[in-house]
Amino acid sequence: MRTVHVDTGAPYDIFIERGLIPRCGELIRPLTSAQKAVIITDTNVAPHYQWSVHNSLAAHGFNVKTHIFKAGEESKHLGTIAEIYKTLADFRVTRRDIIVALGGGVCGDMAGFAAATYLRGISFVQIPTSLLAQVDSSVGGKTGVDLPQGKNLVGAFHQPAAVLIDPDALATLPDRFIADGMGEVIKYGCIKDAAFFEQLESRDAMENIEDVIETCVSIKRDVVSRDEKESGERMLLNFGHTLGHAIEKLNGFSGMTHGMAVAAGMVMIARAGEKNELTEPGTADRIAALCKKYDLPASDSHGFDELAEAAAGDKKTAGDGINLVLLRKIGDSFTLFMPLAELEEYIATDTRPDEETENTEHTENTGNTDEQSDI
Ligand code: MG
Repeated sequence: MRTVHVDTGAPYDIFIERGLIPRCGELIRPLTSAQKAVIITDTNVAPHYQWSVHNSLAAHGFNVKTHIFKAGEESKHLGTIAEIYKTLADFRVTRRDIIVALGGGVCGDMAGFAAATYLRGISFVQIPTSLLAQVDSSVGGKTGVDLPQGKNLVGAFHQPAAVLIDPDALATLPDRFIADGMGEVIKYGCIKDAAFFEQLESRDAMENIEDVIETCVSIKRDVVSRDEKESGERMLLNFGHTLGHAIEKLNGFSGMTHGMAVAAGMVMIARAGEKNELTEPGTADRIAALCKKYDLPASDSHGFDELAEAAAGDKKTAGDGINLVLLRKIGDSFTLFMPLAELEEYIATDTRPDEETENTEHTENTGNTDEQSDI
């Protein structure tokens, strides 16, 4: 079994192996003295794995209850958390008991937030079933929910007791959810690992998906261990996300998945980096080609004025500015503080986001002023 040890304030292991889901009880039992385990899952995942997890936990001495919520980002709000609290309280869950988050990123974020706050914090285990959750969101201890005003505006840092990654779960995922996860996979190559990026270019990631998952979680582990609360290096994980979040917002959180929006955001910010002579020329085209290989978009149809305005509402804004993550080249990333007033001009390239190749109308606008870029 591949094991990635995460040495945070509360150290834990990430286990990666095919067929782990039906064996989860065996791996969770040594980690806890809990009598009760509450599985939190959604309506998409429950039909596939609910009983497999339930039976394995029950076989290892847990009294098991399952809470199922309606699948989708629309469920990621405090109302769903209140329903989870009700299940936990009715089942008389105590501080020594455990929550098992079984599902994708939304499930992990919400089950983790419930675990972080119920009785001021109980233990939880992540069993991520989407590629996005396996390579990214299940690692790092971020939990939370959305508010009508924006994504992930309420939350807590709460480390899991373990993360159990079963690549077999990806077989039941529709292709677009594989693409969604590939956005974050490509991000890891961009920010930290040029050789990994080249491997994604030359091979099919799904052929050696266990290696891909292990590489991604190891990079995230290294970054998060050095910076648990996102003050410095952890910001690099936001590469593509400032514009990505703006794209998700402008598409009403439904037109584009997170991974799709991040893919377009990575290409755009790399183009901006090239325009501003901080990024090696050709980098954006390489990222765009890799995104296309994995069925991800390399652009978005909104204007730079709209993108800049939406990005200014992102929670990662610091006062009057925003920390942009840029690349020197593939595998080498850094942050740059950008005053909000300068963001639109900084990201505006003469390749309009929606007309990658055939736009000729605005080619003379390379020295965009604020007035010109409102065209
Ligand atoms: Mg992300």
